[in-house]
Amino acid sequence: MRASNLYAPTLRNTPAEAEVVSHQLMYRAGMIRKSAGGMYTFLPLGWRTIRKIEQIIREEMENAGGQEIMMPILQPAEYWKESGRWDAYGDEMMRIDDRHGRGFCLGPTHEEMITALVRDEVRSYKQLPLLLWQMQDKFRDERRPRFGLMRSREFIMKDLYSFDKDEEGMRESYQKMYDAYSKIFTRMGLEFRPVEADNGAIGGAKSHEFTVLADAGESNIAVCTKCEYAASDEKAELKVIKAPVEEMQPLEKVATPGTSTIEKLCDFLNVPVEKTIKAVAYQTDTDALVLAFVRGDHEVNETKVLNCIEGALDLRMADEEAITAAGGCAGFMSPIGIQKGTHIVVDQTVMKMVNAVAGANEKDTHYKGVNPQRDFTNEGLIVTDIRLIKEGDPCPVCGAPVKMTRGIEAGQVFMLGTKYSEAMGAKFLDEQGHEHPLVMGCYGIGVGRTMAAAIEQNNDEQGIIWPRAIAPFEVVVVPVNGKKEDQLSYAESIYDELKKAGIDALLDDRPERAGVKFKDCDLIGYPLRITVSPKGMEAGTVEIKVRRTGEVLVVPREQALAKAQELLATL
Ligand code: ATP
Ligand code: MG
Repeated sequence: MRASNLYAPTLRNTPAEAEVVSHQLMYRAGMIRKSAGGMYTFLPLGWRTIRKIEQIIREEMENAGGQEIMMPILQPAEYWKESGRWDAYGDEMMRIDDRHGRGFCLGPTHEEMITALVRDEVRSYKQLPLLLWQMQDKFRDERRPRFGLMRSREFIMKDLYSFDKDEEGMRESYQKMYDAYSKIFTRMGLEFRPVEADNGAIGGAKSHEFTVLADAGESNIAVCTKCEYAASDEKAELKVIKAPVEEMQPLEKVATPGTSTIEKLCDFLNVPVEKTIKAVAYQTDTDALVLAFVRGDHEVNETKVLNCIEGALDLRMADEEAITAAGGCAGFMSPIGIQKGTHIVVDQTVMKMVNAVAGANEKDTHYKGVNPQRDFTNEGLIVTDIRLIKEGDPCPVCGAPVKMTRGIEAGQVFMLGTKYSEAMGAKFLDEQGHEHPLVMGCYGIGVGRTMAAAIEQNNDEQGIIWPRAIAPFEVVVVPVNGKKEDQLSYAESIYDELKKAGIDALLDDRPERAGVKFKDCDLIGYPLRITVSPKGMEAGTVEIKVRRTGEVLVVPREQALAKAQELLATL
């Protein structure tokens, strides 16, 4: 490819709306352009990287026994009604009626479609395991599309679905995908971490997110400083903390004027924060009130709370009226005296507290001598781990302190079990002729998000630093003066040689000033730049610049190819 024919409109300025580096650099490097909020066109350079990412994924899916298919983007509402997700998916789903008034959606994911496919085709254990996958645009009307390709409304996803005859088979398929994902992100040259994850609305037993480590990431992950444990903060478990033994005191109401925060309360009563109980009030999508209680110095993990409220899909902060109607008082809350019908979720550590301080459900009033074991007698009270992990908390496996880091969820693997096959009647006959639901797993990678994650992890002030495996071109050959015939043909001979050796090379034959071309090379981030200058031609040498290290080597012309190959192998 010649740069004079390449549509790569680079910009010197950053577009105002681009908040994160990957978005800014993809825009400036002429890789993407926005068409509407959360929707992007890939220009040739961006698309080359996408194709390379897809190719690595494709090879590893095939190696793992996956077979590529292509399902329609448009999906009939009936399938989603069968699984129960037509309503559950909420506003994130883009819905459409056809001319006959039949309901459809633009697929946000394909569990329903694939289950409907195999239930008609797969009858016998002999057809299992079956691993089917596709590479396709997905649509999600995200509440906040942002960060360019990281959270868009139309995005490319590789989604694979596994079907097995039993739980053991599903675990094997899951492991195959887990290993394939590890290979994929390793081949792309990314620093990543598989972390235990929450299954969320998709359901199922076990899940891992493949997280690319980067500060701009929206995922917080807890990583053990000693053992292998790593989990998203939504998922990370915490063990119960037992309070020191003390004799229980009677419950006592005390006036605590103006102490609507924990700090003020501790100051006022002169108690340590570990002796206080804090409340957070939520309402579900169906307006049910949920009161969550943690120790004063702990934070509530909303995902864990949501997971223990049956049927709830979403939580938002509760309105004051709802709290009052249930007998509570915002800022001064405890389970004591809250009306029946309210969901009360108490962290396991709170339940072990002795002689604590908690709200009295009256303005400016608290209880002292709160002993949850004795005093929290509400019907249906849920006690479980609802705490959010933080730096220094003990690892649930080995007890060593955890470190918190940020990352970008580039892929996720799920054990689904029989949730969809049971709801939609996808069954097979075993060796004895008995009918069972298929046991499923699903596995997604966001292709565009992976591209963005790679840039977040690999950039400097000048621009992108592509890992070789996913660079739009591996090497760019630049004649200092492209208007000079001799320089151009010298550069072209090197370019031809690289191409013949199977290297993905670009010839920058544009009649631009050298400085402009060099700036573009650094911005776009080709791993190697080979420069042809009149001085070098005279001496029979070329200059090779390594984008990642900035190192510049002067090598004899005849060794240009060998040196480029040697350097590329390390990038
Ligand atoms: P998130 O929690 O970030 O919203 P998710 O867990 O809902 O993502 P999955 O359903 O697991 O996403 O989808 C599989 C993969 O698709 C994700 O790991 C991610 O790489 C990608 N993906 C999901 N939503 C988006 C989006 N809005 N834009 C770009 N990629 C996305
Ligand atoms: Mg996910």
